[in-house]
Amino acid sequence: MKIHEYQGKEILREFGVPTPRGVACFSVDEAIAAAQKLGGKVWVVKAQIHAGGRGKGGGVKVAKSRDEVKLYASQILGMHLITHQTGPEGQVVRRLLIEEGAQIAKELYVGMVVDRVSQRVALLASSEGGMEIEEVAKHHPEKIHTVRIDPVAGLDATEASRVARAIGVPDAANGEAVQILQGLYRAFVEKDAMLAEINPLVITADNHAIALDAKFNFDSNALYRRPEIVAMRDLDEEDPAEIEASKFDLAYIQLDGNIGCLVNGAGLAMATMDIIKLYGGSPANFLDVGGGANKEKVTEAFKLMLKNPNLKAILVNIFGGIMKCDVIAEGVVAAAREVSLKVPLVVRLEGTNVELGKKILAESGLPIISGNDMADAAQKVVAAAGGQK
Ligand code: ADP
Ligand code: MG
Repeated sequence: MKIHEYQGKEILREFGVPTPRGVACFSVDEAIAAAQKLGGKVWVVKAQIHAGGRGKGGGVKVAKSRDEVKLYASQILGMHLITHQTGPEGQVVRRLLIEEGAQIAKELYVGMVVDRVSQRVALLASSEGGMEIEEVAKHHPEKIHTVRIDPVAGLDATEASRVARAIGVPDAANGEAVQILQGLYRAFVEKDAMLAEINPLVITADNHAIALDAKFNFDSNALYRRPEIVAMRDLDEEDPAEIEASKFDLAYIQLDGNIGCLVNGAGLAMATMDIIKLYGGSPANFLDVGGGANKEKVTEAFKLMLKNPNLKAILVNIFGGIMKCDVIAEGVVAAAREVSLKVPLVVRLEGTNVELGKKILAESGLPIISGNDMADAAQKVVAAAGGQK
């Protein structure tokens, strides 16, 4: 789960990381009042969307007067902000952050991610922060320092200080940088983040280190114990189909193809999408109904897939292990009737009670196409969806 920059900065402040003072706003009037309240001579008007690259896309503007705050706030609020992370349609800006302008001497990068290979949190840091970090990673990987943090010892001050020096933090700001790195690590662990990033971490003209941007991504499996994070969720930033899916505990990701996939198990769901591609088709979604799928869940899954206007055919691929094939078959039949299915439906069942399951499908009177194995089912669904792309 992602949050906005201003919310990320609230978390950072809680962990002792200095940030510019700022106010989140929902209207131009609020933006003007915020600039007044903050005082000073320079403000930054920042679009709040769940995607990076806002600066390059025109979503971050430096204002040198209240009139400019008003002008930029009215330009940015409501705009379709297109960045390299939003896709070509962009994202509508509904919230702003008005914050005091910092005098930047240097822009650095620090981020943390879960490194699955070492099973540790990896700290990534670079002297080349700012809006070009992807380019640095691609063309100058040697400029990115990586530290895999010992989960028992945590990030100790000596190591943090060494990293700060390596990325060019001046000695005068070293103590603050250590505090920032340690605060970021504690926030990462204590809030169950999967990614936490400060880009840029700036050194100001008067040699202070502050976090000018904040990006967090939280592990959705841990949200049950993080109500304060759930409270920060902004549904406007999420795909409506994915929100609906999460209500029914379905793992659903909308894709841009035309073959709906209903599968149990994430691994099998990935393999199903692969094999559809192999036979020249294109999946409309990833959908894992999980091990405990019942009739209600299967029906909701069908409804979700059918909301997609691009949908041309559906492939149900179930391996009945814990789940029994007859239960799934009953679910599929009931769901197909309830939603009065209009697109071709290919079903491949395997595992416990498979014969009974196939019998239920055959006797349902529904025009269900039976797939004998994954390859057969994939070829049939690609054909049913109108052939290869
Ligand atoms: P994004 O990463 O989405 O482009 P950032 O918050 O990193 O958005 O802002 C982009 C750039 O705008 C920063 O690299 C920095 O140069 C500038 N900037 C952002 N916030 C401020 C601020 N408070 N004061 C001065 N400059 C800022
Ligand atoms: Mg940034």
